[in-house]
Amino acid sequence: MTTANDPRNPRCTADLGAQYITRTPHYAKTHQIFYEELLAHGILRPLTCPIEGMKLKEGDYNFVAPQGISSIIKHYLKESGADVYFRQHVTKINLRNDKWEVSKETGSSEQFDAVVLTMPVPQILELQGDIANLITECQKKQMESVTYSSRYALGLFYEAGVKIDVPWAGQYITSNPCIRFISIDNKKRNIESSETGPSLVIHTTVPFGVTHSEHSLEDVQEIIFQQLENILPGLPRPVSTQCQKWRYSQVTNAVANCPGQMTLHLNPLLVCGGDGFTQSNFDGCVTSALSVLEVLKNRT
Ligand SMILES: Cc1cc2nc3c(=O)[nH]c(=O)nc-3n(C[C@H](O)[C@H](O)[C@H](O)COP(=O)(O)OP(=O)(O)OC[C@H]3O[C@@H](n4cnc5c(N)ncnc54)[C@H](O)[C@@H]3O)c2cc1C
Repeated sequence: MTTANDPRNPRCTADLGAQYITRTPHYAKTHQIFYEELLAHGILRPLTCPIEGMKLKEGDYNFVAPQGISSIIKHYLKESGADVYFRQHVTKINLRNDKWEVSKETGSSEQFDAVVLTMPVPQILELQGDIANLITECQKKQMESVTYSSRYALGLFYEAGVKIDVPWAGQYITSNPCIRFISIDNKKRNIESSETGPSLVIHTTVPFGVTHSEHSLEDVQEIIFQQLENILPGLPRPVSTQCQKWRYSQVTNAVANCPGQMTLHLNPLLVCGGDGFTQSNFDGCVTSALSVLEVLKNRT
């Protein structure tokens, strides 16, 4: 749930990952308080512009995040009151005197009473230290069965005044080997303004993401540009771009028969959650968060 911005104009933003939140009738009831809260704060608003080729089941309802999809995460981090530290790459987790010693890429470490891991499942399995021996064979098998799609996302940022004259805010493409989805992102989020230029988001197909997984971002960006010319010829030059590789994009197979979390150790608590333990969307994240919370509350 990442929102990128034009370094020259931070108000020109683009959702590079999740695009919109689809509320099914089931989750409209069971996650009602979450939807009500996000709507009351203006973090979610109904999607009103057409997304061509979108498959919608009866009773489903779509929302967008006008300030960018990352505003959902920012909202919950703010509500939590926690001190948040970004860009702390965890490499090792060891048990030290009944606490977890979590080491980072930088070499420094810190101790914690409880640890919740929500990174993609293959990255949990890459962690070194005691954690590797705590995962039972059965848990390891379950975690190894989790699969993800891979794709690239390209964000294009334009100068104020540029017009992208199409009747849609998003379009699923079925006839291109490289491009699967295009969104006029500011239009999708209903924040078009004369002071800020439009932003475009392009998602590649999964086969393209897989076959180009080891290519440089510059090469991939160039190929996407060439293919885009076939779909939207004559687009003006963007003032800036951001290309993102989603090696672990959407979960295609989550941990089977899982209650939304996997407890690796009880005391001190070490628990895994996130969409790999449920399903790859907002409701999957909420389901996992609620079950991790139960485990935390029942902690001895
Ligand atoms: C391209 C794309 C399109 C999507 N479209 C939609 C959509 O339209 N609607 C929808 O509801 N959902 C969509 N999703 C799915 C949605 O974004 C995910 O379900 C959701 O973000 C999962 O949240 P999470 O917290 O479980 O994991 P993530 O959002 O994957 O967060 C995991 C975090 O762990 C961090 N991390 C990884 N390794 C380490 C480490 N060693 N140390 C510290 N941190 C680490 C990562 O940097 C990341 O910040 C989409 C996802 C992608 C990629």
